[in-house]
Amino acid sequence: MPIHATKQFRQRYLNDMSEESFLGFPRVSIERAENRLHDENELSVAYFSMEFGLAPSIYHQFQTDQPNSRENKFTAHRVFSNLRAMDSYHEIQIDKVLDIPIYSGGLGVLAGDTLKSAADLGVSLVGIGILWNKGYFKQNFWFESGQMPEELRWDPASYPGLIPLDHVIRISFEHDTIHLRLWKYYIYSYDLEHVIPLVLLDSNVEENGDDKDIRRNLTDQLYRSDNAWWKIMQRSILGIGGMVALRELGYSINKFHLNEGHAALAFVEKAKEQDPTMFGALRKSFAYTCHTPVEAGHDRFNFDELEKILNKDLMNIIKSFGMDPKHKNVVNLTTLAMNTCQYINAVAQKHGEVTRLQFPKFEDRIQTITNGVHTFTWISEPIVKLLKHFQEKIGDWQKDPTMLVHVEQLRDNVDFRRALWQAHMENKRELARILRGWFFDADTFTIAWARRIANYKRPSLILQDVNRLLEISRKVGKLQIIFAGKAHPNDDLGYTFINEMLKRIDSLADYRDTIKIFMLENYDTYFGKLLTSSVDVWLNNPLPPFEASGTSGMKAILNGVIQLSTLDGWVVEAKDRNIGRIFGYVPPDGYIGTEADLHLEEDSRKLYDTLEGLVKLFYDSFSGTEVRLDSEWIDMMINCISTSGFFSTHRMVSEYNETIWKKK
Ligand SMILES: *Cc1c(COP(=O)(O)O)cnc(C)c1O
Repeated sequence: MPIHATKQFRQRYLNDMSEESFLGFPRVSIERAENRLHDENELSVAYFSMEFGLAPSIYHQFQTDQPNSRENKFTAHRVFSNLRAMDSYHEIQIDKVLDIPIYSGGLGVLAGDTLKSAADLGVSLVGIGILWNKGYFKQNFWFESGQMPEELRWDPASYPGLIPLDHVIRISFEHDTIHLRLWKYYIYSYDLEHVIPLVLLDSNVEENGDDKDIRRNLTDQLYRSDNAWWKIMQRSILGIGGMVALRELGYSINKFHLNEGHAALAFVEKAKEQDPTMFGALRKSFAYTCHTPVEAGHDRFNFDELEKILNKDLMNIIKSFGMDPKHKNVVNLTTLAMNTCQYINAVAQKHGEVTRLQFPKFEDRIQTITNGVHTFTWISEPIVKLLKHFQEKIGDWQKDPTMLVHVEQLRDNVDFRRALWQAHMENKRELARILRGWFFDADTFTIAWARRIANYKRPSLILQDVNRLLEISRKVGKLQIIFAGKAHPNDDLGYTFINEMLKRIDSLADYRDTIKIFMLENYDTYFGKLLTSSVDVWLNNPLPPFEASGTSGMKAILNGVIQLSTLDGWVVEAKDRNIGRIFGYVPPDGYIGTEADLHLEEDSRKLYDTLEGLVKLFYDSFSGTEVRLDSEWIDMMINCISTSGFFSTHRMVSEYNETIWKKK
């Protein structure tokens, strides 16, 4: 048995595990994957990430009769709307398992999707992450107060499929030793033939002292940013602890892939045992993906602060490779990663250009591999049924999602066009059922904005001028707008956005007959899938060029949901495909500008004009009882699905594999 689970775990799942089965999934796939990772002749990859969004609530949930703790379910989400009375009578009731709460947003979801596609493609890979004992946080909205974060509680020990291992590793610091329990979670491929083990590190163990010992809380909350010490410890656990864990588990790894700079200390840990003349060779086994052009996205620490925590042998290497070029006595984890990883990539073509401008010293080595999403996680059931029905024309898209480009060939097929609209309406009616307490209407034009609430993403853009919104809804047709998203608890600007949005939504309380606005609490992958598959238009309005990629729009096009977007991130690569409407400010070539200048007024005006055109097209195409099958709307829906084949992690992981992981 290759799973070194604790005795409690084995007893708990006695009836769910046999020679053949692991909680309802084939056991043999685990054994095969573990053997490959131990085999020195196999090229294997370790993929480090601070967060992983695995979404078992919507894909590949483990089966067990064992009771799951109530804390591991999420059954009620509140809504803030301009139908205020309804908000106190109703909650969104969904009986679903909580996502393993070890992610905050797109970066984590991408990491999860990457592991899933690596499994689908049979890559020998292990994920390294952290078991966040208190997740990210639970979100509450209060009118006049905005977002009130609450500590999230969940129970890893009873979470289906999450395995505590017997292994407890130790990492030593200048004045301290930290013990970390290893956990595992297996990510199965679509056909269940392969798995990717994800190893999670957890400091909440007795060896670190009693309940109150701060060391036990180091892995409590994702992106805790109380102070530098806390941040350094969390990054050390991922990078250094991750390296020690791989050794402890006996994995033979050829490539260490750092998803963001958080894990940059992994190289340092590996290098400390080696002669400096070998660093060049070692660099070839490291890869780094940069995910942001936003300044605050790069981790910087005061050298003296780091020196107090990390051992001298580590500090010497950090001094050689990690000093910030612009600030004195500052260590920059992005610099460290770029200096120590042979392979560096940005996550969309446009982001590649921006990253080369920001880091000219590494220009020649910065390549681009555009992000994607895991098709089978994000595609909705009605669309799956539709595509299966027309499989002959499309090809085996379930083996290779890039085949979706062939949906193009169904453009003139009237049956397909009708069935596509019907599939969309089926999704939308499900959303109407969930929001029935607020009289959501499936025949009304619906647009959604849902993602992390961050400054450059401009969450409130569409609410800049509510009178203009009212004018559109009166002149052209009724509107429904849905928002969802969390702001980092220390992000004051994010709080301000939420507050302002709640106020503007409330100001439309008297106009609910022409316009309904809903803001959903606790955006997660379940809502991510629900919304990206069931609204008519997906709104994406980041300030260019600060959205490195963005992925929620990729989920939307996969489900035939039209885009209303600024020209940034992945959208730049799809701009000629007519997948919706593009609007807004575009920075001049070679110019990055600043996040502080949000162009809110100018871009909101452009947004309203473009929106008005789209709403008109919608109501011209769809009367509530009848749909015009020859309309441009349906053409755009087809363009969306055929474009989505490219924006899949299947294509993305194949590129990683060919251009980085397989390289000797
Ligand atoms: C897809 C997804 C994201 C990423 O959205 P962006 O458009 O890339 O900002 C964030 N959160 C959740 C829950 C998601 O499912």
